[in-house]
Amino acid sequence: MEDAPQAVQKGFNWEYLGSLLINKDFWKATLTVIQLSTLTWLLALTFGFVLALMRQSKNFALQQSAATYIWFFRSLPLLVLLIFIYNLPQFWPASSVLLSSSFIAGLIALVLSESAYMAEIHRGALQAIPKGQTEAGKALGIPFLGIQKLIIIPQALRIALPPLANQYITIVKLTSLVSVISLTEILLVGQQLYTRNFLVMETLLAVAFYYILIVSVITYLLRKLENKLDVTQRNNDKEDDINLDHQALTQYSQISNERQGNFAIEMKAASKRYNDNTVFKDLNIAFKWSEVTTIIGPSGSGKTTLLRTINGLESLNTGIIRLEGTPFLYGLESQQKVDVADYNRRIVHIGMVFQNFNLIQHKTALENVMMAPLYHQLGTTEEIKIRSLAMLDKVGLLAHAHKYPHQLSGGQQQRVAIARALAMQPSIMLFDEPTSALDPELVNDVLMVIEELAKEGMTMIMVTHELSFAFKVSDRVIFMENGKVLHDGSPESFQNTTDPRLARFVQQNNI
Ligand code: ADP
Repeated sequence: MEDAPQAVQKGFNWEYLGSLLINKDFWKATLTVIQLSTLTWLLALTFGFVLALMRQSKNFALQQSAATYIWFFRSLPLLVLLIFIYNLPQFWPASSVLLSSSFIAGLIALVLSESAYMAEIHRGALQAIPKGQTEAGKALGIPFLGIQKLIIIPQALRIALPPLANQYITIVKLTSLVSVISLTEILLVGQQLYTRNFLVMETLLAVAFYYILIVSVITYLLRKLENKLDVTQRNNDKEDDINLDHQALTQYSQISNERQGNFAIEMKAASKRYNDNTVFKDLNIAFKWSEVTTIIGPSGSGKTTLLRTINGLESLNTGIIRLEGTPFLYGLESQQKVDVADYNRRIVHIGMVFQNFNLIQHKTALENVMMAPLYHQLGTTEEIKIRSLAMLDKVGLLAHAHKYPHQLSGGQQQRVAIARALAMQPSIMLFDEPTSALDPELVNDVLMVIEELAKEGMTMIMVTHELSFAFKVSDRVIFMENGKVLHDGSPESFQNTTDPRLARFVQQNNI
């Protein structure tokens, strides 16, 4: 430690303050504070995320243990925790290997306490991410951890970054408490100086200087990171790499012609209920290859639920779904259980298009399309890129490949979503009210893409309110009401129905 003036001087000693700003011990302590707070922030951020996921889990034990952790460590004063952990070797001598270092003891106490706060910040961010983002990943056969890594964490981090940055600053200041267990951090260096020379104000001003310096640098860096993660501030400046024309891409945009089994999909004795509300019961429907089926009916009749049970986004209570001739999903009450690995492997044979597009918000159109093929390693990055560009070209959006979803109209987003589903080479496509969220003038572009797929022989099951379109492109119309199938046949037989209920529907909807 540098020699400090021994005598107490009258007035404010500016010269001494100046010397403290280049004091080696203070700078060393500053480095310790930066190391301790950065490590604490990163570890607590990670552990807090796991806690937040546990807190949201459907598993009661996981949920409760996370909630208890958060309650306990938020209630406990950090000072108590610090002294407790530092003195733990008295009862548990083996722990002295780690805990004899005041840095490590301080780090453990800070991480334990801060994770509880970070978990709540993450939980808020996770709740702000629409459920559709996870569903899009699931429908593309990406398992839980992959969804977290590719879809959820980048978005949650962006939402949570301002409060997380705040927490970083809080941690920097909390490190001063670690001086009670003799860590040579900024405050302790100051205390050691002023207890010898009594220049309290000058020394504390220097202490304040070092804290303010650290906080200012961290704030600056985190703001830069925040701007980097903010997709609304990004330009699509990568357009130069699209040098393939329509002609060259066409050969890569073929749809899958793989067909196994007598039927594409078979539902047998399928029932679904939400608590006491039975949506449908004992349904038996088989979908043939290359058949275009439209499910229509009044709101609340169970059309969307039926569609979502086909690819497991909703679980059946009873019954079985066979995909391409072999069992795929079982009802919850069945003896047989769904094999998760088999599900993730085969789900990609079914492409899904959602009402709200569910494009991944922080990825460009091209990145959205490439995401699942890259995850499933369907080729080299270059091959996947060419095929993805070809799919974007197929839906007429090649020129928009590098745009983010917020830079596209609803109709364009929906067409990207179709390209994204097609990029996995599915043999069956499900459409859940694909045009319901669109302005009327944007509907046609999407319908034209669907019609084109029908012409190419794609097996499709569609829930839609676009009845005249449905009757034009469909081979088969299923009319549902209150979970019951009242009609299952050709569009013509529906239009010429003599059933009074169907006739009323035909009349009401000008079919
Ligand atoms: P449709 O697509 O024909 O409008 P849905 O399949 O959306 O009908 O809904 C069928 C029934 O299931 C409705 O009574 C609806 O309230 C109920 N339902 C749908 N989703 C849920 C859910 N997640 N939780 C509880 N009930 C639901």
